[in-house]
Amino acid sequence: MLKTISNALCKVFSSKPKDQSTDTDETPSNSGMITVAKKRLITEDQHKISRRYLDDNALKVAYRLQDAGYEGYLVGGCIRDLLLDKKPKDFDVATNAHPEEAAELFRRGRLIGRRFKLVHVRYGRDLIEVATFRASHDSQTEDGENEHGKQCDSGLILRDNVYGTIEDDALRRDFTVNALYYCPKDHCVYDFANGYEDLKKGVLRMIGDPDSRYKEDPVRMLRAARFAAKLDFTIDAASEDPIRPLAPMLKRIAPARLFDEALKLLQSGHAVQSYKQLQRLELFEPLFPQVQVLLDDPHLNVPLESLIQNAFKNTDRRLAQRKSVTPAFLFAAILWYPTQLRMQTLIREQRMPPLPALHEAANQVLSEQVRSTAIPRRFSTSIREIWEMQLRLPRRQGHRALRLMEMPRFRAAYDLLLLRESSGEQLDGLGQWWTDFQNANPESKDNMVNSLGKGDKPRRPRRKKTKKPRQERSGNDS
Ligand code: ATP
Ligand code: MG
Repeated sequence: MLKTISNALCKVFSSKPKDQSTDTDETPSNSGMITVAKKRLITEDQHKISRRYLDDNALKVAYRLQDAGYEGYLVGGCIRDLLLDKKPKDFDVATNAHPEEAAELFRRGRLIGRRFKLVHVRYGRDLIEVATFRASHDSQTEDGENEHGKQCDSGLILRDNVYGTIEDDALRRDFTVNALYYCPKDHCVYDFANGYEDLKKGVLRMIGDPDSRYKEDPVRMLRAARFAAKLDFTIDAASEDPIRPLAPMLKRIAPARLFDEALKLLQSGHAVQSYKQLQRLELFEPLFPQVQVLLDDPHLNVPLESLIQNAFKNTDRRLAQRKSVTPAFLFAAILWYPTQLRMQTLIREQRMPPLPALHEAANQVLSEQVRSTAIPRRFSTSIREIWEMQLRLPRRQGHRALRLMEMPRFRAAYDLLLLRESSGEQLDGLGQWWTDFQNANPESKDNMVNSLGKGDKPRRPRRKKTKKPRQERSGNDS
């Protein structure tokens, strides 16, 4: 990754930076804070973005807008990533057409969102997001509300549909490197916030006053951690300083949005680096409070940190190999020890048998977790199954091993078992046994199971139910 970035930076540096640009003044301000938009054109021979890496559908959308008399640019992360020689995750288009006007131009256009209205244009599996230029909320009334925008006392933006010019729009974006616009007409990159220079330096700089920008939308703090991890950038000191004190503001964000952000951080191939940044910036706690409490406990006697790190390494490796990953596995691993510790407490203090104790612990841990990151039900069901399988995997006698292997969550459960073992949990070689068992032929499988011995204690014969006298039975029985 470092190589890619250094290549990319070389590429950017090799373009003649200052002399060829058409800007008038490219230094931000003495404090480094970007508060006014100053247009600078980066020509094609400078930015060297090859046209064949630009998404055809995004270009189609931008041309369609321009043909209809509006402005249309490719903007944000896609331009940032192309300048860094990275493959963009998605392509966004910005325009001065209002969402309703833009939606009308596209047969496949759909108006979406309330808090932030935009248009989705779908081409098969490809989705292009078309956003109208946004302006700041300065023009609002004293109570922080007008027809199109709404901001609460803490500065949090509740509705963001105040439209403006491209300059306004640039200043409303989060980081300078995310405020670069590609114009398909002249093939230039328009830079209004000195993002091109920051990109060359590998710096993430919040546009405007970082403190208020994080208060407007605390998710920007998670985005800082994510881009620092993904791009291997440093966060400018003034942009980093407010993060730790403001981290608790993330608790006000809708858990469904935080779940999406958590996945972007942990399932985009940079989970290890993202976790490092989240911890460094004290942002892991608002996402996984129960886990952080344990991580901070000096008497913790389970290898939690190691399990989390290994789960992230494993996820990054799988994504690098283009293998699938599921949030269920990741969350099952992250929350395994909080659940196991709670289960042990229930067994010890309430004398519950292990399985009901696990079910109860799972209920408690998951219902606490969804207050931070909403976990869709399809995933939480799988998480419970993966955990339940951890209790079943040691019980392999008779036909059980073969039956377990056929269960839908076996593979994920086996992977979690291996992670637990490689993280330092003592499981008497159970992971290796399952690895060998899966590779063994039917005869060896029989031998492996037979050599386990009887294992479980024989069950006590059930007591025969004594028939109650007829008159005591409920009326429905007859
Ligand atoms: P990636 O797609 O690689 O995750 P991105 O920067 O493209 O990164 P998106 O979520 O796709 O991120 O957003 C597209 C653009 O919209 C960003 O580059 C940024 O300019 C702007 N943006 C997104 N979220 C915010 C936000 N919370 N505050 C301000 N601007 C934002
Ligand atoms: Mg994007």
